[in-house]
Amino acid sequence: MRIIDQHYIDGRFVKAQGTEVQSLINPSTKEIIGQVVLGNEADTQLAVAAAKTALKAFSKTSVEERSDMLQRLHDAVMDKAEVLAAASVEEYGSPAAASYGRAAFAAQTFLHAKEALEDFEFERTAGSTRIVMEPLGVIGAITPWNANYTHICGKIAPALAAGCTIVVKPSEISALQTQLLMECINAAGIPAGVINIVNGTGSVVGAELTRHQDVAKISFTGSTAVGRLISKNAADTIKRLTLELGGKSPNLILDDADLQTAIPMAMGIAFSNTGQACHAGSRLLIPEHLMEEAKKLIQKAVVSMKLGYPAEKDTVLGPLVNQKQFDTVQRYIQSGLDEGAELVAGGLGHPEGLEGGYFVKPTVFANVTNQMTIAREEIFGPVLSVISYTSQEEAIAIANDTIFGLAAYVSSSSLERAREVASRLEAGRVLINKGIHDDPYAPFGGFKQSGIGRDSGVYGLLEHVEAKAILGYDEV
Ligand code: NAD
Repeated sequence: MRIIDQHYIDGRFVKAQGTEVQSLINPSTKEIIGQVVLGNEADTQLAVAAAKTALKAFSKTSVEERSDMLQRLHDAVMDKAEVLAAASVEEYGSPAAASYGRAAFAAQTFLHAKEALEDFEFERTAGSTRIVMEPLGVIGAITPWNANYTHICGKIAPALAAGCTIVVKPSEISALQTQLLMECINAAGIPAGVINIVNGTGSVVGAELTRHQDVAKISFTGSTAVGRLISKNAADTIKRLTLELGGKSPNLILDDADLQTAIPMAMGIAFSNTGQACHAGSRLLIPEHLMEEAKKLIQKAVVSMKLGYPAEKDTVLGPLVNQKQFDTVQRYIQSGLDEGAELVAGGLGHPEGLEGGYFVKPTVFANVTNQMTIAREEIFGPVLSVISYTSQEEAIAIANDTIFGLAAYVSSSSLERAREVASRLEAGRVLINKGIHDDPYAPFGGFKQSGIGRDSGVYGLLEHVEAKAILGYDEV
């Protein structure tokens, strides 16, 4: 059993002062595979103090120096990509095939930030005014368990590029991956205090970071519910905020789409990472007259997705992360049944032969109205709501009738129509005829209650600088 009892503070592994311990559980087997000692307020304060001290010199480093550091971080994460991927298979049941790609993507984040940094205009003159983009200060980053290392790297990269120092509080339920990432950061030889990582819960370490007066900004990825709490707690110190929150993303299949392609793609969009993805297309909008054909194709596509142990290389759907998530998903399936939706695939309980882990059946409901609970709330599991519509106008209205606005998907054989629909969707990211897909040059973030601010490349860098105007700069 692995005991994770250290944080990474001021360039060293530091024993946690907190005494509470949490078990780490393999969701495929429910076996305890490790324990993490949870940090407390004193651990957090130590990390913030180290970041504050390091900021003095780090904020003055050159673009070349920071560029080099980002390259070294990329290399260090790539060196450990396989072990990071294996830890995510073990710790949260992420299917192996996707896990390695995610680790490589995490490493790439540093190169994208490096490119953005090298092109960034930190200073310019407008008239007689000098405009200087200064690093914001100490960043507090709080990240979720899903895709642990992708999110941590995604927070560190833009902060470092901007010349900020950072304290990261990753999710307490993915501490094995966090430990490996601490080793990568240590190997990259980053100056002491620039990157600090503290294990612990949201209500202790997360809340302390959010309230701390020496933290200039909270960069958060997680649920909308916790995002609301963080906004409130950050208000007293007027912190800058980036909030990357939940979603209930619509996938619009237009009446001219090729269903043979669009339906299997829609299953991939809904069930990626076993539905535990913020940008999952969890509401599928289908023209009413195509519904019967679509249902048959959905059933065929669901059966063809291999559900099983995540370490097996052809597994597409693994288990959910823990008992709590398993129970939540069961409750939502029950609510779909209670509110009168039509079960097309899956249903309650464990899939046969997979009773030993937190496996659920990929579940599809048809005849869903956009007012049903399963169409309104983020489930974060493999439950898809299929909603019918009779006109493109109605489809757009249904798609936008949600508090969320993270992603949206459109399938059509007419690029012109798809573009017109995309322009009217209220979402931070719209994908045309594409499954879940990333582009390093595309900003990532949400409209409405899916968040504030943008991550990725130059957009992430902009969220970590403060514009200072020096008037009269060029006058004598
Ligand atoms: P969560 O909101 O429960 O936890 C996220 C982080 O916040 C964890 O580190 C947790 O410890 C911390 N936290 C909890 N309470 C806190 C508090 N009071 N103060 C400060 N920090 C606190 O989310 P989760 O279950 O880890 O992840 C799933 C959620 O994350 C889903 O809603 C998903 O949509 C969202 N998510 C969003 C994105 C995005 O980019 N928009 C990406 C991935 C996940």
